[in-house]
Amino acid sequence: MITVKNETGFAKMAVAGRAVKAMHEAIREAAKPGITTKELDVIAADVIESHGCTSNFLNYQGMGAAVPFPGVICASPNNVIVHGIPGDYALKEGDILSIDAGAIYEGYHGDAAFTMAIGEVPEIVARLIDVTEQSMWAGIEQVKAGNKTGDVGHAVQTVVEAAGFSVVTEYVGHGIGTAMHEPPQVPNYGEPGTGIRLKEGYAICVEPMVNIGEWKTTMLDDGWTIVTEDGSLSAHFEHTIALTPEGPKVLTA
Ligand code: MG
Repeated sequence: MITVKNETGFAKMAVAGRAVKAMHEAIREAAKPGITTKELDVIAADVIESHGCTSNFLNYQGMGAAVPFPGVICASPNNVIVHGIPGDYALKEGDILSIDAGAIYEGYHGDAAFTMAIGEVPEIVARLIDVTEQSMWAGIEQVKAGNKTGDVGHAVQTVVEAAGFSVVTEYVGHGIGTAMHEPPQVPNYGEPGTGIRLKEGYAICVEPMVNIGEWKTTMLDDGWTIVTEDGSLSAHFEHTIALTPEGPKVLTA
């Protein structure tokens, strides 16, 4: 069900959004060669707790998952697209790392993701990260009352494909409110003027997942980790946007 948020709901989502932003900044700061993704998870847990929030990822078991998610962050290096489990993997120079992690404040959710390079990466890899972020902002520009989800997806897809990269189609953006994943689904592709109409009171997560190679994905045996089928690198960016009476507001930036 779509929760239509009033001023109080959006105010609580804004608190969650600030916690998410602080958590992401702390991870960005700490993500250096040698640190493990489990160590980043511990840092993330501390930050959201210090903001009076709880994790919406820890023990999450939506989307038909066989087992609850065992981390506060999804830590997805290199060819991992999304839902990487924090563990013993130590970052190394030349990696890319996608972090997806959210927070709950008094029942209201925030959700965001980013990809960063660990040290120096080849030019095409830096471009993958830039293009993915740009495609997210192009999508966010279309998140306004009266537009449709297809307007958002079309904007994302246009930026990605112009750069010669591939949009992941099996995982999508979503509504957010008193649950992390609410309708409507917000695919990262589509035709303008199609899909679900966005309305004041909605909040939407725009989250392109972009591969250097083909769009196809595979799930690992852990029941969570999604990798590119062709082994190519993948990037992911996400923000939570509220459609308030004063217009759209990005709550996690
Ligand atoms: Mg999300």
